[in-house]
Amino acid sequence: MKIYIDGRFYSERNAKISVFDHGVLYGDGVFEGIRFYNGRIFKLEEHVNRLFASAQAILLTIPMSKEEVAKATIKTCRLNKLKDGYIRLVVTRGVGYLGLSPYKCKKASVFIIAATIELYPEAVYRNGLKVVTTGTMRTPANVLSPAVKSLNYLNNIMAKVEAIQAGAEEGLMLNGQGNVAECTGDNVFIIKGGALITPPISAGALDGITRRTVMAIAAEAGLPVREENLTRYDIFTADECFLTGTAAEVVPVAQVDGRVIGDKRPGPVTLDLMRRYRELTACEGAPIYS
Ligand code: PMP
Repeated sequence: MKIYIDGRFYSERNAKISVFDHGVLYGDGVFEGIRFYNGRIFKLEEHVNRLFASAQAILLTIPMSKEEVAKATIKTCRLNKLKDGYIRLVVTRGVGYLGLSPYKCKKASVFIIAATIELYPEAVYRNGLKVVTTGTMRTPANVLSPAVKSLNYLNNIMAKVEAIQAGAEEGLMLNGQGNVAECTGDNVFIIKGGALITPPISAGALDGITRRTVMAIAAEAGLPVREENLTRYDIFTADECFLTGTAAEVVPVAQVDGRVIGDKRPGPVTLDLMRRYRELTACEGAPIYS
């Protein structure tokens, strides 16, 4: 495996960053997870744009242009001779001193890993996920905006731990008002009365690229699409529920806090959106080999 770090490629064994990098010391940095299918990187431009927006929000200067980041990402996939897989694109604050100030870090570091991906097992797409609400809430925007895809995932990791300890596969995270924000690594949707509904970004969700894509696909298919605050009651009584994320794609939810959603099996709207999403990923994206 060839890994990109700051303009050069290294073998897996030699791909290293400093213990003084503030990405390691403080989780100070931003990242993207990106999929590529059939030799094309899906929504590359959107991911690069979000990476730069996250960096802008935390006063992190990425020492490359958007075009350079996109090119380096494509090259990393090409050098690894991959057609299908997952990319981790990371920008750390860079090497500094022991002390919080990012102003002591001279230059941000960019690294890119292109690898294969382990999705949920196929059975989850047939039978749906088991989800529980976690006591760990999503970080409020006045603490750390959930719109920033930062290297600081402890909040979500603790929620994921709670979910696993409760025997579930995913954790549903609420915001300070008690409304649904999102899951630990995915956005959440319900189908109710023939409409597709998801919490607004202001409820404390990441502005997911899969979320946006699914909303566009649904609208194109003639489904009413709404962003609305959702309570747990809304989820419990939904006709269907599913999650979206780059890695998981569109994944049905069978159960939340012991309540069976709809008739448990993935519902017809979820199945249709799963199919449409897969069709799109199979043909759209920035070509790796051209
Ligand atoms: N929410 C969180 C907290 C995430 O980390 C992610 C990405 N894994 C998502 C939502 C989904 O975003 P995207 O569709 O852009 O991958």
